[in-house]
Amino acid sequence: MSGPKTHPWIEKLGVYSAGKSKAAGTAKPVKLSANESALGPSPLAMDAYRNEAPNLFRYPDPVYADLRAALADKYDLEASRIVCGVGSDELLKTACRAYLGPGDEALFVAHSFSMYPIAIKSVGAAAIEVPDVDYKADVDKILTAVTERTKLIFIANPNNPTGTYISRRDVKRLIENISSNILLVYDAAYAEFMDQDDYTDGIELVEHHENVFVTRTFSKLYGLAALRLGWGYAPKNVAETLDKCRDPFNVPSSAQAAGVAALKDTEFEQKVISHTAQWRDWLSTELSSLGLTVIPSVTNFILFRFDDENKSAASANEFLTKRGYILRYYSGQGLDKFLRLTIGTADENEEVIKLLKEFLED
Ligand code: PMP
Repeated sequence: MSGPKTHPWIEKLGVYSAGKSKAAGTAKPVKLSANESALGPSPLAMDAYRNEAPNLFRYPDPVYADLRAALADKYDLEASRIVCGVGSDELLKTACRAYLGPGDEALFVAHSFSMYPIAIKSVGAAAIEVPDVDYKADVDKILTAVTERTKLIFIANPNNPTGTYISRRDVKRLIENISSNILLVYDAAYAEFMDQDDYTDGIELVEHHENVFVTRTFSKLYGLAALRLGWGYAPKNVAETLDKCRDPFNVPSSAQAAGVAALKDTEFEQKVISHTAQWRDWLSTELSSLGLTVIPSVTNFILFRFDDENKSAASANEFLTKRGYILRYYSGQGLDKFLRLTIGTADENEEVIKLLKEFLED
């Protein structure tokens, strides 16, 4: 065949399959498939976004100084070691571009975020899946999978799509037992929802290790998914490397401004946190009482299983979609008996349970 020839690993690369947003026959479906915020963005973030309109002709601040300062202030960080990206997705890929290439291996845990193998393979490295245990990452299994070729490990804590987390003790055991030339990418996209004493958002690791990159996002609790704003924190050597690999104007001014405002709106943060906790408890109880198996979640979504073959996840998915409710159905990843439900508004949550009841009783 003529024409430009891509790298063989690009030819084989799969594309990320996003949570669906359309349901045939429903003009305005309820999208509970992508772990977006149930309560939208903070009003302060929306104002800040609108106020940027007259500046759209200008390139954004290439070093996003105000955003870095706001993050540093809020989390007590060193501003120069913060790296921002077009969503945390971009940061995951930047880490792969900087630290991996053909001949290298990178590890990711089964039933975790499906961008990891895509990001790894996009630079020609081998993506090695490590089994989990009870839908949770297992540090011993990760350590066993490390070889001389391993250059990077991805871990999501809490994890998507399972909603589970591992303890600070386990995380420390992981980083303390890998060579310092392996980068641990600690993806804490759902950290804002956590109040468990034995959880670490990973920032403390950055102070003590030279081989860690913690990533966070404004897409979940802050409800700014459309703006594609992620941030990460790393030791100086890693932060400088990642900064070199990103594009010069990768964060639009509107996203920088909305991010700064969102960080200040602590009242809104608290509202989202308590809404999520309250409805997570309610939904988990309701799903269990319908006879579905709920994987205990600490996040803004719940993964649950259909064990009755006559009432499968695939048919539940079809039933709900027809009625305008879109959950996340996994036809692959060994999760085809599951649906993942993003916690919605009070009305949406009640309606989903009502529909599931109808489906199961039908
Ligand atoms: N990490 C995890 C674990 C996620 O669930 C997601 C979003 N689904 C991301 C990273 C990417 O988020 P974003 O690019 O919107 O920041």
